Amino acid sequence: MRIIIAGAGPAGFASAHWLSKQGHQVTLLEKRSIPGGKVSAWQDDDGDWVESGLHVFFGAYHNLLGFLAEVGLEDSFDWKPAEMIFAQPGGGYASIEFVKGLPAPLNGLFGVAKSKLMTFSEKLAMGRGLMKPIFGSQAYIDQQADITYREWHLANGMGQSTIDKVMDAMALALNFQKADQVSAKLVLTALLHFAKETDAPKMGLVKGSPHERLWIPLMQQLRDRGVIIRFDSKVDAILHDPATNQVTGIQLADGQILMADAYISAMPVHSLRKVMSDSMRVHTELDNLKHLRGIPVITAQLYYDRVVTDIDNLIFSSGTHISVYADPARVSPDYHSGAGSIIELVVAPAEKLFPLRDEEILALVIKEFSGLHPEALGAKLIKSHIVRIPNSVYAARPGVEQYRPDQATPIPNFFLTGDYTQQEFMASIEGSIRSARRVVDRVVTAERSGTIRTQFN
Ligand SMILES: Cc1cc2nc3c(=O)[nH]c(=O)nc-3n(C[C@H](O)[C@H](O)[C@H](O)COP(=O)(O)OP(=O)(O)OC[C@H]3O[C@@H](n4cnc5c(N)ncnc54)[C@H](O)[C@@H]3O)c2cc1C
Repeated sequence: MRIIIAGAGPAGFASAHWLSKQGHQVTLLEKRSIPGGKVSAWQDDDGDWVESGLHVFFGAYHNLLGFLAEVGLEDSFDWKPAEMIFAQPGGGYASIEFVKGLPAPLNGLFGVAKSKLMTFSEKLAMGRGLMKPIFGSQAYIDQQADITYREWHLANGMGQSTIDKVMDAMALALNFQKADQVSAKLVLTALLHFAKETDAPKMGLVKGSPHERLWIPLMQQLRDRGVIIRFDSKVDAILHDPATNQVTGIQLADGQILMADAYISAMPVHSLRKVMSDSMRVHTELDNLKHLRGIPVITAQLYYDRVVTDIDNLIFSSGTHISVYADPARVSPDYHSGAGSIIELVVAPAEKLFPLRDEEILALVIKEFSGLHPEALGAKLIKSHIVRIPNSVYAARPGVEQYRPDQATPIPNFFLTGDYTQQEFMASIEGSIRSARRVVDRVVTAERSGTIRTQFN
């Protein structure tokens, strides 16, 4: 079959890989001039890499790890110890370290017990409260999709103080919103995996830029297999014939119309909504996409003339806008410059910061960072970058789970992939790869059952 995939992020690439391996003729369309979507990176005028976001893989990301192994890129990242390190105001760190040598969930429970982050009574309440996800099932967690994590936390005997100290930072790292906004299902799904799999909490960071380490070698393999990858090819409209209920083509921004047997959207949900024909919205599943909203997030990169943190891992912070950050000059070998730190920070919640100018955002980030790392006050900031993503991942708020679509749609030759579609890992790279596996299954099933009318083979 001839298949068009729109969107060259992780979901689009993984779908293109598996479908082309099955012998299909795949064209991958991307509106930007670079690959990777939210996992993209590009070079500034000095040749330094600017990243759309700091990305971490977890040991629980079996589909992503399997995919990287399948394409020979299992060596593209380094594992860091399973530890949540929290920078403390005024300097210093406190952490929750998953204890090595102990199986899950004991590694996490002993980690909480040993941590200096919480008081004895907070630890006791956490230990008791977390029994439900620890001994619970995905079915129990699915039932928590319509309440916030904060509601769930308080209803299970844990107090606001542990939200302030730990859980807000975790919610922000996972979905760029705090515990009083995010669905309990999202946080509990992560906790369930940490509780059931000993290696789930270990964290992997790409050894350098995802552009060089992941997308360039992957694109080479895809092109060798005949996949056509077109950059600067923005989908302007998905053409749909309501009489036959078929997608009949993809119209690009330059007016060109491309046709195929099957069409896959690997665009983020807000982009897909903009380009769907009105006649597609008669299908409730597609109309319901209006309930899925992207969350704003900002990435800041600060280049210092000297080392301002020696932590070779992710760092969390509570009560600031810099929920999670790292120093790529420490954590990624390709970025080791020997000189200073490159601090890459996820700035969230970011909604109220978007109206500010870059200089104002920078001033806030530097102030908060220096409050946690006083060493930065004596260092010179050489340069900085601010990357704004107004619609990043979909906001996993209470009540929206029911609107996440399956990868097969009511239009027989039109399919969806992406981290917002139905799969257990919600808004993450693992989620996007899972969704790609599922979309490939749906396409293959539809082809075998004759639901897709092939014209191009
Ligand atoms: C700051 C930040 C940090 C993150 N950190 C982590 C992390 O640590 N771990 C983790 O697992 N996840 C993380 N994520 C989430 C992760 O990046 C996403 O879940 C993942 O990239 C989703 O992949 P996707 O392929 O579904 O969508 P995307 O990556 O958004 O790719 C979609 C592609 O579609 C393209 N597109 C859009 N509109 C059109 C159009 N009209 N025509 C053609 N192409 C179009 C886009 O340009 C893009 O390339 C982070 C995200 C951000 C923003």
